[in-house]
This record gives sequence, structure tokens and C-alpha cells, in this order.
Amino acid sequence: MDLKITFIILMPLLGVVLCSKDPEKPNIVIMFADDLGYGDLQAYGHPTSHTPNLNNLAKNGLLFTQFYVSSPVCSPSRASLLTGRYQTRSGIWPGVFEPDVVGGLPLNETTVAEILHPRGYHTAIVGKWHLGVGKDNMYLPPNQGFDEYYGIPYSHDMCPCEICFYPNETCLNDCKDDFTSCPVFDGLNIVEQPADLVTLHEKYVNRSVHIIADNAARGQPFFLYYAFQHTHHPKYAGKQFRNSTIRGPFGDALAELDDGVGRVMKQLEDSGVLENTLVLFTSDNGPSLRWENIGGNAGLLKCGKGTTYEGGQRVPAIASWKGRITPGRTVELTSALDILPTICSIVGVPLPSVTMDGVDISSVLFNGGKSPRESFFYYPTTVRPEYGIYAVRYKQYKAHYYTQGSANSDENNHDKDCRPSTKRAAHDPPLLYDLHQDPSEQYDLSNDTNYASIIDQINQVKAKFEETMVFGDSQMANHSPYVEPCCNGPCDPFPECCKCTQSEKKDIHLRFIP
Ligand code: MG
Repeated sequence: MDLKITFIILMPLLGVVLCSKDPEKPNIVIMFADDLGYGDLQAYGHPTSHTPNLNNLAKNGLLFTQFYVSSPVCSPSRASLLTGRYQTRSGIWPGVFEPDVVGGLPLNETTVAEILHPRGYHTAIVGKWHLGVGKDNMYLPPNQGFDEYYGIPYSHDMCPCEICFYPNETCLNDCKDDFTSCPVFDGLNIVEQPADLVTLHEKYVNRSVHIIADNAARGQPFFLYYAFQHTHHPKYAGKQFRNSTIRGPFGDALAELDDGVGRVMKQLEDSGVLENTLVLFTSDNGPSLRWENIGGNAGLLKCGKGTTYEGGQRVPAIASWKGRITPGRTVELTSALDILPTICSIVGVPLPSVTMDGVDISSVLFNGGKSPRESFFYYPTTVRPEYGIYAVRYKQYKAHYYTQGSANSDENNHDKDCRPSTKRAAHDPPLLYDLHQDPSEQYDLSNDTNYASIIDQINQVKAKFEETMVFGDSQMANHSPYVEPCCNGPCDPFPECCKCTQSEKKDIHLRFIP
């Protein structure tokens, strides 16, 4: 064959090969667990969890010991991961999105996907969105910078639930029967309603693996945000993982999650992109202790989900990039807020021109260096502007200005501070803990005069931060059954009529909106 013709034929192929290794456009995979506590993984000390794949990720990656999410509940934590901004700025307060909430993540917020898409990335989310559905699906991922979406758009307890374990075991927790059955979206279309929890994991993994294989084969850089429904309640597991662990239902759900991590990592390796992919695994908030034996575990941290104690907001986190991130562990102060600015730094994109709360933690990831983050601010589930921040972390110290128990942290909890009956209490001076010496927040230092200057400094840090805080209008305020996803709508009797198998799916995906 003529050399010139050969060259012309091979050029696109060469281009593909070169592009897939483009060091300036590494692939980015974020795996985000739900309600997985600081003490739930083997790598963080749990004695009976079975997480071989997360163990491998930790062994080959950087394990964070002081990594925080911006809220002790789902929606606000997810908003800040995707925007680098506290949820209060974007209006994701108070609480979480239920299926009938009219609002969502405002479309003028810039998500990680909206940063990467114009840079030539294929952007995909598999799993739990939980940043609103809205009228005509206006807040779903395809309208927030994602090329591809497959998943349930909120928690899988926000719908009636019946079967949770293979082959047909019932669910162990209450679900919300007043809403439509949980839908599985593919793009803006509902492809399954109700979602079959027993096979959901396989579908999520298969889609995630396909995204990696397909884009790697095409030399297309990709951003995969794999947001697990696991280990939120109700616990569920398919054939391979039901009764697979000695930890019970939570252990089975976690083992299934771990399988997803393993298959994603294997596909990255099989596709030859492991050395050009940043992988981050973390959780959206602490463990839901209200479920007691079948809930998660915060390890040595105080309380759990729903509270501004450490158990609510300090979460497991592991970063991996073969050949770039030196395996080990770090005690540096870091947050999910830092993900967007760090990605911007890695791909060489300017930050969005808005108030940014995250910082670039590349120095921690790649150089074993110090984190530029010195402070972190804890907003409660029930955010109210008149109360503002509940607690401030400054260097190794944490000051609690308010404390409050949570329904997510169990009325029977051995620690009464966690219980829902423990009402909001103000503290002046704030309770003060040295988290390097006392990560369990047991020994209050606020009355020790040696720490008076530390409290003064924290007061100043808090006041300075609050000067910058402009609360976005709450997106949670309005409810309407007309925004609930329904594959079959408009139909009666609502919401029971919203059921379709994949073969029955129709072009109408929402009830008529007056
Ligand atoms: Mg959660």
C-alpha cells in the first residue's frame, strides 16, 4: 500500500491512541458512597466488613484521615461536591430533595461536568443524583453538564419498597409510600419504574464499565461520577452478595458496593487507562445510626448522619492515580469542596467566576505536601440563616457554637448528644476540642484559659467567613406531586399507576403540569 495512503488511514487511529494518553486530560472517576461512615471500611478499621477492592484501592492510593463533606445529609453534600461551593450559596437548604420538591440545583451553578464537557470530556453520571428533578426534568443531570445519565434520581427509600434482597426477601426498613415508585432514568427517559433493587447493582456496574470501555477505546477523555445508592437504607443486595458477609445486611450491601469499585478499577486497567485516570472514592455523609445493627458505623467519631459532630461529616476518602499519587495516608485537612478546584488545576481550567469555597489540594495528592485548607465550616441539616454555622474547624481545633441531635443518629444511641430528642443548644464560649489529640470530641477545652486565644482566632475566622456568605433562595420550599417522575403519566390512580416495565415505556414521562 502506498505509504501516503497508509499514513492517511492510520492518522485517525494514531490520534485516538495519543488522545487517550493525553496527560493534560486525564480521565476522572469519582465514586461516591451513600451514608457510609468513617468506621465502615476495612481500611478504616472495621473488623467484619468485606471490602477487598476498597482495600486494594487504599493499598495503591492515598487514604485521607481528615476529609470532610459540607453537610451531614445527602443533597447539600452532593451540591458542594459538584460546585466547590457551600450548599447555602446555591440554595440547597434546609434538608434534602424529596421527589415532589419543585426546586433543584440552580442551572446557573457550574458543575464539574460543565467544566469538563467544553474541554472535550464525555461526562457521565451513574446512580443517585439527588439534586432535584423539577418541572419537565429541568434539574436532572442532562441539564447540568452531563452527556449521559443512568440511575435513580434520589434515595431509594423515597418511594414504596417491597423486594430488597435476592430472590424475593422484603425490605428491612420503612420507605415512603406516598410517592411514585422509584424510577430509573436513562437520560431524561424513565426506563424502569419501579426500580428492581435486586438487579440495580448489575445495571449500574454494567453502565459504568461500558462508559469506561467505550470512551477509552475511542480515545475520549471521560468524567465518570458513579454515585452509589449503597449503603443508604433500605439495604439491598443481589444474588451474589446476599448473605455473603458476617456483617449482615449492611455488610452485604457494602460488599456489593465494593464489587462495583473492583469492576470499575479492573475496567480502567483492562482499557489501558489506569495510568491516566484520577480515581476518588468517598461518601456523602456519615452513617445513619438510626438503623442500629443494620446502619453504618462512624468508628471512633462522635454521632453520625444529620449532626455536625465529626461522625456526621468526616468521611472515608481514598484517591488513586497509578504512577502519579504515592500510596500512603495523609492527615491533611481536606474536603469534598476541594474536588472542583483540584480538577480545574489538573486540567488547566480557570475556576468559575463565583465565590469558591474549595481549594486546590493538588499538593496533598501529588507531592505529599500540606493542604492549603486551614478551616472548615459545619452547617447543620436544618440550616437557618439566623443561626448560620454550627461549628468551625480551624487547624486541629474544632469549636461548636451550636450542637443538636438528629433523627438520623438514633433515639437509643448510647450518647445522648446524638439523639433526636436533644434539641439545639447554643454554646458561649463555644465548646472546643483538639481533634488531633481527641478525635472523638470528648474533652472540652473551652474553660481552659490556655485556649482563650485559640477561641478568639476561631471567632475571627468564623466572622470573616460569614461576611462572605450570601444565602441562595431555598430550593426546598415548594412541593407539588406534579413533578414526581411517572413513566405512565398522566394516569390514575396516582401515584400507584406510575409503573412500567422497560418494554412498556412511553414518551410521556411526567404527569401533566398545569
Ligand atoms: Mg447520604
